[in-house]
Amino acid sequence: MLSTLDEDAPSAITLEEFRRAQSFDRWRQAIRKNLNEECSQYEEHEHIVLVPIPKLDSTAQDLVPKPLRQRLLHLAHHTRLAGHPGITHMFYTLRRNFFWPSLLADIRVVLQHCY
Ligand SMILES: [Zn+2]
Repeated sequence: MLSTLDEDAPSAITLEEFRRAQSFDRWRQAIRKNLNEECSQYEEHEHIVLVPIPKLDSTAQDLVPKPLRQRLLHLAHHTRLAGHPGITHMFYTLRRNFFWPSLLADIRVVLQHCY
């Protein structure tokens, strides 16, 4: 998970915290019900974390539960290590490991409100 050395930044997201947030996420629960259907685009990893199966490459990303998205966006943009990346860099950095449907739109909002 992403971590930071900044004192004012939110704390890093632990795997356990990620799993716990996913278990309460309604979207994840709906996806999990249909995991065994042939048309499902998702798979289960280590019995807990769901990852979408991308059509364009062979990588897989963690399905990010809603309560953790803003914190993850903050860590990926506002911290000293992140360095306020632009939209393309931020999108591809996050997309390498994480997925949610409004990822790109949410990144745009972060950049619009960055001073
Ligand atoms: Zn910025």
